[in-house]
Amino acid sequence: MQTMNAHTRAPALFLDRDGTLTFPYHYPSRPEHLRLYPGIAAPLAELRAAGFRLVVVTNQSGIARGYFTEAQLDHMHADLRARLAAQGVEIDAIYHCPHHPDGVVAGLAIRCECRKPQPGMALRAARDLNLDLARSWFVGDILDDIEAGARAGCLTVLVDLGTEAAPQHAMRCPTFVARDTLHALAIIRGVEGLGPLPEVTYQPASWRQSVASHAASDGARLRAVTGGAHDNCG
Ligand SMILES: [Mg+2]
Ligand SMILES: [Zn+2]
Repeated sequence: MQTMNAHTRAPALFLDRDGTLTFPYHYPSRPEHLRLYPGIAAPLAELRAAGFRLVVVTNQSGIARGYFTEAQLDHMHADLRARLAAQGVEIDAIYHCPHHPDGVVAGLAIRCECRKPQPGMALRAARDLNLDLARSWFVGDILDDIEAGARAGCLTVLVDLGTEAAPQHAMRCPTFVARDTLHALAIIRGVEGLGPLPEVTYQPASWRQSVASHAASDGARLRAVTGGAHDNCG
């Protein structure tokens, strides 16, 4: 029987939104612009049932740029939550960064601590939700996601959409690279002992140096070996 007390901290699965949960779209501003990748609901629900809090962390500079409003974003996120809930997935929290230094909206055109690659959203979520960042995962489709996750002390998975050049800095080197979000969730389930371990040596064709070639095939040993996001960087 699982007992909860004030000192029990849960791991999180931090999820980028655009390109990670949903198909890429140029500045989505309406609910129908957010099309979820098929098949991700089941593994997300499974990870949540295993104790992972599901936390969406998304840069939304379109607000600072005046492309859409906070109210429109709230509407999109309510719809996204409802669609996931209909598939059995409860999202624990959604954090967004509305800022951008080049923005036009007063007060939002700033250099902030929440816009990825800064780890501000994950750090705030950790305080709000009592999370154990060292046992958490951060999944995203660009290296700014990976850096944010690494700075927060999480394990990281890059979903390869073919946009990212090989990382030039250890903080931007993912623990794993996945061919798509389903593969990313399978890797996490495998490493966490919730399913068979899939291929973990995948890397983008353009990356000359192996990212995960040193990864142990044994999940438990891998967790012991990596201990962070930068040990597999070539
Ligand atoms: Mg993205
Ligand atoms: Zn921000």
